[in-house]
Amino acid sequence: MSEPRCNSYYNATINEETQYPELEGELRVDVVIVGGGFTGVATALELSEKGYKVALLEANKIGWGATGRNGGQVTGSLSGDEAMTKQLRSRIGSDAEQYVWNMRWRGHEIIKERVKKYDIACDLKFGHLHTAYKPSHLKELEKTYAEACLRGMESELAMLNKPELADYIDTPLYHGGLLNKRNMHLHSVNLCIGEARAAESLGSLIFEHSAVVDIDDGTLATVTTAKGKVVANRVVLAGNAYHKLARKKLRGMLFPASLGNCATAQLSPELAMSLIPKDVAVYDTRFVLDYYRLTADNRLMFGGGTNYSGRDSKDVAGELRPAIERTFPQLKGVDIEFGWTGMAGIVLNRIPQLGKVSPNVYYCQGYSGHGVATSHIMGEIMANAVAGELQEFDLFAQMSHYRIPLNEWFGNQALALGMMYYKVMENFR
Ligand SMILES: Cc1cc2nc3c(=O)[nH]c(=O)nc-3n(C[C@H](O)[C@H](O)[C@H](O)COP(=O)(O)OP(=O)(O)OC[C@H]3O[C@@H](n4cnc5c(N)ncnc54)[C@H](O)[C@@H]3O)c2cc1C
Repeated sequence: MSEPRCNSYYNATINEETQYPELEGELRVDVVIVGGGFTGVATALELSEKGYKVALLEANKIGWGATGRNGGQVTGSLSGDEAMTKQLRSRIGSDAEQYVWNMRWRGHEIIKERVKKYDIACDLKFGHLHTAYKPSHLKELEKTYAEACLRGMESELAMLNKPELADYIDTPLYHGGLLNKRNMHLHSVNLCIGEARAAESLGSLIFEHSAVVDIDDGTLATVTTAKGKVVANRVVLAGNAYHKLARKKLRGMLFPASLGNCATAQLSPELAMSLIPKDVAVYDTRFVLDYYRLTADNRLMFGGGTNYSGRDSKDVAGELRPAIERTFPQLKGVDIEFGWTGMAGIVLNRIPQLGKVSPNVYYCQGYSGHGVATSHIMGEIMANAVAGELQEFDLFAQMSHYRIPLNEWFGNQALALGMMYYKVMENFR
């Protein structure tokens, strides 16, 4: 049964709602993609640009999953940067650092180019502020700053001390911060829908309310929904934390973590601008962090907390209110108009997972809360792989990953324990 969009700020401010049909009958295409979030849509668009005949099947609505629920922050971190570099060193030697560094910004370029080329209205803005929650956290920001300078980004970054922070944010909380002008923030659902329309304009066939229930992989693959079938040379699984397909091969690799997000009622433009005068997106240095920004219509969108049980919280706005009021005491009692949760796909070593479950069935998942840019990079790598350029696909497909050989519930408890450990260790950072 297809589910409606959640009650989020994004869904209340969609430029134009999608009306794609449910799949009925049988279709024959080159590639069928399962899942209509950023991963699926970005892959569909790349493949359509290359001239492939693509069908995309989404169980609910385009952008219904994590893509329609996130903080909209396009970060220059892939989450598993260090682990990735370490593993790549044994394969590509000293090129590993530069490869991962370039990848950190590759998603930004793809998104900027798409927004321009297909004229997608998605409130794209530049600027992030990474704030030091404790004085001792300044060291890691300084390390990032030094690395960025070494790699030629000094004009785009700046270390800010506590008094300098006041030009960017009106809060007593932090001890300094790192400003990054290359990072971006945007309206996630409007970007995803805009990309889906671009793919459609190039010939992609898009279906909503079309959950894939079975995949039969022979010389050709057949995917089945309640009312139809698609026969294709290749299948790409892009359901991330929301799908239960290919469990035999994928069990124990990815863990759904429920993340909360909310948006206040519209603030006066003066109040909004007094909170974050340069309209940058903000996040702090803690392991379980707060992340927030202003929306185009002057709300504060605020996310934080993570529930690794794999279940959604019942009152996300209530849970986030204390953090909002601690950050901005001037918002005490503010009306929180939207509160929602979403499932992010957490990978233990935080390296995105891509590979094949069988010769014709590819998968791509697990960006550990950093997927806005990463899903676009992975979409490019997946489309190249389908087109026979396997170099980067193989680099990722050969990464080692931990697998927790337990069912999802036990896996999530193990993950929750691990996270508790990091939260305790936070006290000693
Ligand atoms: C609250 C929250 C905040 C976040 N904040 C940020 C952020 O600020 N910056 C950042 O970079 N990342 C953030 N992320 C992570 C980011 O949103 C995700 O990594 C990214 O959107 C993943 O995209 P996806 O397409 O892989 O998965 P999803 O967007 O989850 O899409 C998967 C889709 O597959 C569909 N599907 C599942 N099963 C089937 C099936 N059997 N048949 C057909 N369709 C199926 C689902 O309906 C869903 O629409 C956040 C995530 C959450 C939850």
